[in-house]
Amino acid sequence: MTGFEALRARMVERDLRGRGIADSRVLDAMGTVPREAFVASDLREFAYEDAPLPIEQGQTISQPYIVARMLEALGLRGSETVLDVGTGSGYAAAVLSRIANRVYTIERHGPLAEVARRRFRELGYDNIEVRHGDGSLGWPEHAPFGGIVVAAGGPEIPQPLLDQLAEGASLVVPVGETLRSQRLVRVVRRPGDRFEAEHLEAVRFVPLVGEAGWLPAELEASEGSTSLEPVMAAPAAGLGPDRPLVRLLRESSEPFDDIGEAELGSLIERIGDARIVLLGEATHGTSEFYRMRARITRELIERKGFRIVAVEADWPDAAKIDHYARLRETPPPEWTAFTRFPTWMWRNREVAEFVEWMRSFNAEREPGDRVSFHGLDLYSLFRSIEAVLDYLDRVDPDTARVARARYGCLTPWERDPAVYGRAALTGTYRTCEAEVVQILRDLLARRMEYAGRDGETFLDAVQNARLVANAERYYRVMYYGSVESWNLRDSHMFDTLSTLLAFRGSEARAVVWEHNSHVGNAAATEMGARGEHNVGQLCRQDFGDAAFLVGFGTDTGTVAAASEWDGPMEIKDVRPSHPESYERLFHETGLEAALLHLREPARPEVRGELEPPRLERAIGVIYRPETELASHYFQASLPHQFDEYVWFDRTRAVAPLIGPELEGVPETYPFGL
Ligand code: SAH
Repeated sequence: MTGFEALRARMVERDLRGRGIADSRVLDAMGTVPREAFVASDLREFAYEDAPLPIEQGQTISQPYIVARMLEALGLRGSETVLDVGTGSGYAAAVLSRIANRVYTIERHGPLAEVARRRFRELGYDNIEVRHGDGSLGWPEHAPFGGIVVAAGGPEIPQPLLDQLAEGASLVVPVGETLRSQRLVRVVRRPGDRFEAEHLEAVRFVPLVGEAGWLPAELEASEGSTSLEPVMAAPAAGLGPDRPLVRLLRESSEPFDDIGEAELGSLIERIGDARIVLLGEATHGTSEFYRMRARITRELIERKGFRIVAVEADWPDAAKIDHYARLRETPPPEWTAFTRFPTWMWRNREVAEFVEWMRSFNAEREPGDRVSFHGLDLYSLFRSIEAVLDYLDRVDPDTARVARARYGCLTPWERDPAVYGRAALTGTYRTCEAEVVQILRDLLARRMEYAGRDGETFLDAVQNARLVANAERYYRVMYYGSVESWNLRDSHMFDTLSTLLAFRGSEARAVVWEHNSHVGNAAATEMGARGEHNVGQLCRQDFGDAAFLVGFGTDTGTVAAASEWDGPMEIKDVRPSHPESYERLFHETGLEAALLHLREPARPEVRGELEPPRLERAIGVIYRPETELASHYFQASLPHQFDEYVWFDRTRAVAPLIGPELEGVPETYPFGL
């Protein structure tokens, strides 16, 4: 076996079969075609990297996995005549020629078409015909095709290609309204001119430039750029730890060894007078992220007078922690905090340690100077109803009776509020909107009367009533699509944060702990392109530079996560980061743990170099390593997303709080069972 054959065999096993490619004809073909013959000689050694590579004319040769995925999706038997749009290097057409009878391939750049033609001749692949032209219009002379594959993305599925598809055959093509967000789609032609479309995964290809693709003028408008440069960030000067960008990052980062001992003076200085510091996390189950956030938060509390900690948890559950941490003397909330999925997100040893620290810090201070702990999220519909009713029972039993009747509209849906949303939407059940909004209004109208007794308890009741009103809407709009419900949820979290700041007075400062996807400015990510906003973006809009946004990232290790919603917590291995991701760049610096300042770095080129969008990984409460690229990576521009980035190369899962360590804890202990 030659060196390349060995690399090819490894690629087939690790990057293709290992990621779920199962079609043996595709695997065999990918194991035969020499990918090294389709790249420039200085890139040969990288031919079997798990990554796209640059080719002439500013184009790219797709990542092997993507080629395999697309060809597998065609479902070929071997006797077909197929069309390949976007010849590029010719690699995909060459693989295709091993699993189809005849391949027609079209490329809009003349020189690329020419080089590909020569390669096919030299390799003896004589069932491929290359044409220089606009492939978005297909190749009508040879239609219908038993399969069509397109390696460049337009704003919609090109009609001419649909027309040239044989019955029963598939068209596999990337589409996207913007170049940043493309979906790989398979369309199957059924009898009677019916087409069935199916979304395969999120991808990123160069633009399909042509009559049934992007017109050059549109492309300029859509990207705001003046050139047709490839969007697939292709490494400019080779790969590996010595590329200039990796060196720049290594030299600009501030490494540290130990979370407890890390010197944070320069970070605290950069945070300056910010009123809101948002601390992210790249997963919901990584110990280092929790411990580092606790460490930074302690510094901000001790050195900068921060007195509010607000986290991505439900309001009433967090209130139980707040009660304990602030040593409040009112009766404690009766519920056990954080019993809802995903329990490990807040019920873990890392959080419990931080809560103990807050409690001892607070014990030495006057009530007005203590650090409070709050939840910004809105999933606690029924617990919040309970809290509002408890409150009214105490302060105003008559109003409590009315409120109980009004909330009664929602009680049939306690087991699954999502079912309420669907029933209300389809008209099979009336909406409870008027009722829940009225309760909030009633509470606010009696602000003077109620709050006069105890402002803190009143705030708690109003927040619960507001949560119920927003959650009622949340479950209804959920069915219009994820954009609306995402925005409603993040607006609710931002409004809650604003309310807390206002309540604590004009000098109040808050630390926020939420996932990177809520904390980083959504406008700098593909979420923004979809119309989604988030807490970080709303903070930036309202507070400008007084909001300091910190992102966190990791390469590999373990993470606490479930395999499906409501599933049990598992400790899962985190896959090494994707070659085209920001994480991979940081991994290649060789730094174990480091801070990188992004807002005004000492070397300004840090921003410029990191600016072109790359992949970034987000692991939530669910982690699906099998489909990691599609499920967990999105495009972002790091220096626009965050003011600072905190890196931990290897990380481990949080330690959930369960069992014996909770035996015999006092009744007020928030994590007790
Ligand atoms: N299958 C190729 C991928 C090349 S990238 C490989 O594995 O090497 C996509 C190619 O599509 C680029 O070379 C680009 O020039 C080409 N392209 C873009 N729009 C096109 C169009 N309308 N017609 C033909 N080719 C197009």
